[in-house]
Amino acid sequence: MNFSFNPSLMAAAGIIALALGTSGCGNTGNDKKAGAALSATNMDTTVKAGDDFYRYANGSWLKNNPIPAEYSRYGAFEVLEEENYTQLKTILAEASADKNAAEGSVNQKIRDFYNSGMDTVKIEKNGISPLKAELDQINAFTTVADVQKMLVLEHASGNYPLFYLYSSPDEKNSNQVIAATYQGGLGLPDRDYYLGTDSRSKEIRASYLKHMAKMFVLAGSAPDQAAKDADVVMKIETELATISSTRLELRDPKANYNKTDLAGLEKMAPGIDWKGYFEGINLHVTNEINIGQPKFMSGMAKMITTVSVADWKVYFRWDLINSAASSLSTDFDKEHFAFYGTVLSGVKEQRPRWKRMIDQTSSSLGEAVGQLYVQKFFPPEAKKRMVELVNNLKVSLGERINGLAWMTDITKKEAQAKLAKINVKIGYPDKWIDYSTLTIGTESYYTNNKNARQFEVNRSIAKIGKPVDRSEWGMTPQTINAYYSPNMNEIVFPAAILQPPFFFMDADDAVNYGAIGMVISHEMTHGFDDQGRQYDKEGNLHDWWQTEDSKNFEAKTKVLVDQYDSYKILDSLHVDGKLTLGENIADLGGMNVAYNGLQKALNGKNKDEKIDGFTTDQRFFLSYAQVWRANIRDEETMRRLKEDVHSPGDARVNAIVYNIPAFYTAFNIQPTDKRYIAPENRADIW
Ligand SMILES: [Zn+2]
Repeated sequence: MNFSFNPSLMAAAGIIALALGTSGCGNTGNDKKAGAALSATNMDTTVKAGDDFYRYANGSWLKNNPIPAEYSRYGAFEVLEEENYTQLKTILAEASADKNAAEGSVNQKIRDFYNSGMDTVKIEKNGISPLKAELDQINAFTTVADVQKMLVLEHASGNYPLFYLYSSPDEKNSNQVIAATYQGGLGLPDRDYYLGTDSRSKEIRASYLKHMAKMFVLAGSAPDQAAKDADVVMKIETELATISSTRLELRDPKANYNKTDLAGLEKMAPGIDWKGYFEGINLHVTNEINIGQPKFMSGMAKMITTVSVADWKVYFRWDLINSAASSLSTDFDKEHFAFYGTVLSGVKEQRPRWKRMIDQTSSSLGEAVGQLYVQKFFPPEAKKRMVELVNNLKVSLGERINGLAWMTDITKKEAQAKLAKINVKIGYPDKWIDYSTLTIGTESYYTNNKNARQFEVNRSIAKIGKPVDRSEWGMTPQTINAYYSPNMNEIVFPAAILQPPFFFMDADDAVNYGAIGMVISHEMTHGFDDQGRQYDKEGNLHDWWQTEDSKNFEAKTKVLVDQYDSYKILDSLHVDGKLTLGENIADLGGMNVAYNGLQKALNGKNKDEKIDGFTTDQRFFLSYAQVWRANIRDEETMRRLKEDVHSPGDARVNAIVYNIPAFYTAFNIQPTDKRYIAPENRADIW
């Protein structure tokens, strides 16, 4: 739930995901038929397909499935997530009751981690005491050197006040792992919330101040002191926000590639003893460091000396309490949720504890849980079917590239070479993470979390200076998502997304190509979106385009930017066409490639055959639209419009299908229909 951590780190890791973290929780008992390939009962045929295809395909489902109290958004992803919880629950129930698990085995670690999180008696009794040693240390600060010492200690343990330090492939030498930094230090999920003059930003700032004050009181401060401390944190974070890059700036790979060495960093960001910092975090390879955002680093380092030590004490206390909140006693946990869940996303109720502990176990011991998950729930036939689909869709994208009228043969040849080199990972890693050096025990839930974090930091630091391990995965098998990695030039499909409504073992091709076929094509297209196209076939940031092709590409994407910019959500808000451009290119390309792939698979057969009254092409588009059905709370919509590089579900459907000629034929769309786009105004890129 701590938004300041996940999205930036995800971006920092260079992973382009299909859908931003599904915020699942709660069980409604609705939609028991999630396994049905295509459901006519989801549709609202009183809406014309030419006016609003999203509601034509999903209207009845949207009406019949109000958002459960524990959700900010409820749609196809969340329905599948519910099933995922049921599966993981059986795994964790077995593990948690296994008294005979050998000490040091992954089963023992899963058992003790989950059980420590469910032991609320102990967690309540502990209160804030797990933080005592660190809080005492902060209290004892007297000098700038103390501030620096604390920064090092926190970073060494995997807590990241002020900025992130992590391992990453070198953007221009993708076989080599180097150290990298990324801006951070904010308690709110985006810099704009600190600086925005709109009413929503003001409202969030006011609530954040109240929330911080309440947390300080829970941690033992008197109310008037707590309010003053909240002001101090807000002041520091606002200063950090001012020097932070915008989300749009963060999407520019070249601007965020600034490789230097220790001496270069010392010059760029004086104010921090960088040599001492690297020694303190146990990093001894400092000849190559990518400074993601130099302006941030130099401004932040300057603040180390300009902000008073007294104020830093307050900031570090806040960072520690805030990041630990959900592993402390109920009072901290509830207040943390009240702000990050309710205020920011509109969620009415916290998920039941067992679900949150499944999430936490599944994240801290990701591949350990993943092994048990695939043994039980991932059929080998699914992998075989996926390989066939991917191969067919690779050929389909190749055909589309060859057919592009706007691209020269020289660039086409390079594009084909890149496509041919896309690596594919399906289901789960061939080589699992070795958890033998991670200690998980019965001392406390907080300690287990701390140890898991330390284990991840150690793994990450140990990679720096070594060749990239191409067998690694950036998502666990039990994650309902998929991604493209530009540095690895690979597409990855965790086992959990290979289920309905994305993947059907037995459904007809039209339904599968409209769902998982589109997901596969979407991920491949990311290799050629506005960011991905800047990387070559080896995963290096390197321009392989002829100048005129780049110009044509930009002109073509402008059409899409304008279409999304004018896409209205919640009456007066609109999608940010530039922020979501990469995803929108992938959606549009994904649909074109998947449609072409479907035609190849059918090979002229069964095209007019109707199932449940719908032709093959109709089922293809309906299947796509049904994947993106979702009800969403207004607060969550506003948050995502600002932060999410993905467009909302209705735009993912309506802003795409009216650009595709086959859609017009399939549903007999006429110029008089509301969303009709004249052929010359349609977007068409890949
Ligand atoms: Zn995507």
